[in-house]
Amino acid sequence: MIERHRDSRELTERCDVVVIGGGVIGVCAAYYLAVHGRQVTLLERDEVCSGSSYGNSGLIVPSHSIPLPSPGADKLAMKWMLNPESPFYVKPRLDLGLASWLWRFRSNCTEEKMRRGVKTLTELSSASIELYEEVIAAEALDCGFRRDGVLMLYETPEGLSEGLHEADLLKGFGLAPKEMTGAETHALEPSIRPSAAGAVYYDGDGYLDPQQFVTGLAAALARKGVSVREGVEVLGFGVSGRSVESVRTSEGEYRADQVVLAAGSWSPGIVNKLPLKLPVQPGKGYSVTYSKAGVTPTRPLILGEARVGVNPMGGAVRLAGTLELAGLDLSMDQRRIGAMVRGAARYFVDDGSPAAVSGHWAGLRPCTPDGLPIVGAIEGMHNLIVATGHAMLGMTLGPVTGKLVAEVAGGSETSLDVAALSPDRFQRRVRRP
Ligand SMILES: Cc1cc2nc3c(=O)[nH]c(=O)nc-3n(C[C@H](O)[C@H](O)[C@H](O)COP(=O)(O)OP(=O)(O)OC[C@H]3O[C@@H](n4cnc5c(N)ncnc54)[C@H](O)[C@@H]3O)c2cc1C
Repeated sequence: MIERHRDSRELTERCDVVVIGGGVIGVCAAYYLAVHGRQVTLLERDEVCSGSSYGNSGLIVPSHSIPLPSPGADKLAMKWMLNPESPFYVKPRLDLGLASWLWRFRSNCTEEKMRRGVKTLTELSSASIELYEEVIAAEALDCGFRRDGVLMLYETPEGLSEGLHEADLLKGFGLAPKEMTGAETHALEPSIRPSAAGAVYYDGDGYLDPQQFVTGLAAALARKGVSVREGVEVLGFGVSGRSVESVRTSEGEYRADQVVLAAGSWSPGIVNKLPLKLPVQPGKGYSVTYSKAGVTPTRPLILGEARVGVNPMGGAVRLAGTLELAGLDLSMDQRRIGAMVRGAARYFVDDGSPAAVSGHWAGLRPCTPDGLPIVGAIEGMHNLIVATGHAMLGMTLGPVTGKLVAEVAGGSETSLDVAALSPDRFQRRVRRP
């Protein structure tokens, strides 16, 4: 059952597995752990799905498997980073963690590392979209899931040529993108301006309403005997030797055999007393949801040059995008939201119909400097499993991450190779306890 914070009495509770964080990653981890027969307690400081998993674009996109650090991304980032209206922005500040993250990001912008990243991400995302079909059917989740493709749309010939280059790369990893001319794109999707240069259609991609999926799965968890506790903030850990003995929370202590850390962008703060490095920077993005849009596309789109995702969710339409490295800051910069909306408008015909906005939202993507998530146990802390750092792909990779976490926790061989995701890749210079 889902329980709100009970009272402030100190308690000590014995658990099998504690999962920290009620976003898509924590909820999927709890689900697969329960399917594997584990007794799970999920702790969420606020409500389930109140973090980055709430207002995102909801695109389930193996087509997005090119990691953020890629050749040229460092130079583009340098060009954009000080312009508050560009799709990528770094808030100028003195922060050693950020400086070291940017340095590592830059060192990952090579062809070889990018190709290794694409291999890992296409394997994970292709497995994950299959798992979406299974989980949604098994739990009868009503979340608007459809798998009829995503159109990557380009306004300019230069943008299209970049998109075709990415498509060629992804073909080498088993995806089957199809090139479309501007006229074909307009014929398929009349809401798009006929002047658009063209598109690349990824027919294996899908989309859903992210909040409906996460809260629906959390309700299924409760039916599977998982104890979902909302309003319980994790403050730190009690450690003995090489294991986490207890999870200290706002409502007392939980003693657990295993702990899964899935608190998204807040994960580094939770482990800051442990000898463990989690180089995760919050990458702020915004979404604007229209209860009634001027024009309504019939399928999801990614607007290439503007770097904006468009999801027609039921009767509504959601635009989402921008990436801002500004720390754990959820304030909304209207300049950036305005630039995103104006950038998106360039792609659509304007028939003068009025639009009605139902909500603005900001979320923090947990971003690693090598563009890969962190999933796995830690060498120096054997019963702590980390599952975070999914950046732009957290919705896409939710189910496969949950399944891998359950396999790691059970000590069985994992269904996919997780070596590249190990938290140990960041620990080299940390002294083991
Ligand atoms: C604008 C935007 C658009 C996006 N679009 C897409 C998309 O189309 N497709 C895609 O695949 N991904 C997308 N993403 C990325 C995706 O949203 C994230 O990668 C994903 O939501 C991360 O999930 P999470 O569970 O790790 O983190 P979160 O959803 O942030 O969950 C972490 C949870 O931990 C809780 N928590 C934090 N601290 C504590 C504590 N001390 N104690 C207890 N609980 C705690 C928080 O309250 C929160 O609920 C988008 C993101 C943004 C911002």
